Formats: sequence, structure tokens, C-alpha cells
Amino acid sequence: MISPPDAATPDLDALRSRLLPERGGQVDDSIPQLADADPDFCALSLVLPDGSVRSSRQADVPFSVQSAVKPFLFALALLDTDGAALDRVGIEPTGESFDALKLESGTGRPPNPMVNAGALLTASLVEGADAEARMVRIARGLAAFAGRELDVDEDVAHNEHLLGDRNHALAHLMRAEGTLEPTADDAVAVYARACATLVDAETLAVMGATLALGGVNPRSGERVVPERVARDVVSVMATCGVYDGSGRWMRAVGIPAKSSVSGAIVLSVPGRIGGAVVSPPLDEQGTSVRGRLASEALSDDLALHSFRSG
Ligand code: GLN
Repeated sequence: MISPPDAATPDLDALRSRLLPERGGQVDDSIPQLADADPDFCALSLVLPDGSVRSSRQADVPFSVQSAVKPFLFALALLDTDGAALDRVGIEPTGESFDALKLESGTGRPPNPMVNAGALLTASLVEGADAEARMVRIARGLAAFAGRELDVDEDVAHNEHLLGDRNHALAHLMRAEGTLEPTADDAVAVYARACATLVDAETLAVMGATLALGGVNPRSGERVVPERVARDVVSVMATCGVYDGSGRWMRAVGIPAKSSVSGAIVLSVPGRIGGAVVSPPLDEQGTSVRGRLASEALSDDLALHSFRSG
């Protein structure tokens, strides 16, 4: 049993030790850098509203954020377009994989900002006259969510740009539908760079906490996005954040979250806590196996399920 979040120190190392013998799942192999990830890497971190942090071992080990960046790209797009991004991207779950070659029927919009099509689009909506300027804008925005400057793994950015055939296909589809403005290549380059941003569990937990706490970073005190933007983003994490596993996730874990191929999961419990759990082996929906087990345990032990009755 983990202590409640207001108690001195929830024992995240004990939870981590319980998870390590779990051997299920496969490490993503879409690019060499992800395929080389240590399958036994496992870290957990929680951030409370007063900015205090509880972390396990390895919570300072960097990894590329991958799709856990998508909620933050959506937030920045909402901020920079004054909410008009909501006209450009749907918010319905797809029941399909993260890189499905499918757009919303009738509109040609991406189905939601948590799948690749949607994140390619939201990354193109942030302020900036060209791809370079949008990359700078995204780096600045992610740094505000994190409360510190974040490096980019240039090899990951390069390989994802080069090898992301399905992302190029999605960008071309959106161009054909008239829903994506930049060139397909620019859109993929900006999105790939955002995915290659380096975080650690502690930093990602601060980012999740900033969304959970209405857009104010609890460490720096900076208002990063308006309350309404944070609420919109967390709502869509709740319905779409775990792709075609979102329904099962909401029943079992009950915490708005976003999964990613690096094995990271960012958690945002509105008004209460932000968190991150990371371990590379993934299940069929691309969710970290240990990350899911950790999230279930945290949800139970800290009473974080959205639909608990007491
Ligand atoms: N960069 C990865 C991709 O677009 C992110 C996917 C993910 O984390 N699910 O393929």
C-alpha cells in the first residue's frame, strides 16, 4: 500500500521493485534508438499541487518523450490559435491504432489530437511563420510546461523524420483534404522534433501536473496556459489518450493519461496530482506494460480513479 499523496513519502521504489519482475510486452522497434532501449528501465514520479515531488530510482534518466508530447502540442495549438484549433481537429476516440491512415469522414480533419494525424496538425498550428519558427515555439512551450529547458535527441529527430513513412502518408492525406497548411515534409519534421524532446520521469510528471493544476506549473509558478485550455486537453486525454485502449484504461486506471512508444505515460489527475511512469516494453496498443500496472496501483492506492464514489 502506498501512502496517500499528502503523506510524507509514497514508496515509489517499493512499487518499482514489484514491477521489475514483470516481463510482458515488446520494446518499440520503429527506429534504432527506441529499439536499443533497456527493457528493464523503469521510473515513476509524482508531483503534488504544492510542487513537491516524489520519485523512484531512475527518475532522472532521460528518454525521448514521443507521443506523450501530444497533449502539450494540443495545448500550445489551442493557446496560439485562441481556441480555433478545435475547428481544425476532431476530439472523438478512433478505436484504431495511433498511426492509422484515417481522417474524420466528411471533414478530412484528423480524428483527435492524441493520434499521429492530430499531432501532426496541432504541431502545424502553433505560432511561427515556418517550420524552424514552429520548432522554436514548441521548444519554448514545452520548457514552460517542464519548468526548464529541454534538449532534443537529434538522432531520434532525424530518424523519425526520415523513417516515419506513415507520418508522411498522413501529412499528404491531410494536404490532399486541404486540412494541413505546411508541406507534408515540414509538418513531419516539426512533429518528429517534438517527439524527440528529451525528458525524464520527474520532468514529465511536472508537465502532467501543470495540466492537472489548470495550466499553472506548480514548480515555477508560471501560468503556462489558461485554465480552459488545460481542461480541454485533459478531457481529450481521458477519452483518447491511450488510443484503442482508452476505454479499458479509463475503466481500470481512471486517470486521464497519454501513452507513448518510448514507454512513458503522463498522468494528469485534475486538481490533485501529476505523474509519469516509464518502462519501454509495450502492449499491443503501444502502452507500457509496467506503466499500466504502476498506474493501476497508484490509482488504487492513492484513490485517484475519476469515477470512484468515495
Ligand atoms: N514519434 C512516434 C511516431 O510518430 C510517436 C508514436 C507514439 O509514441 N505512439 O511514430
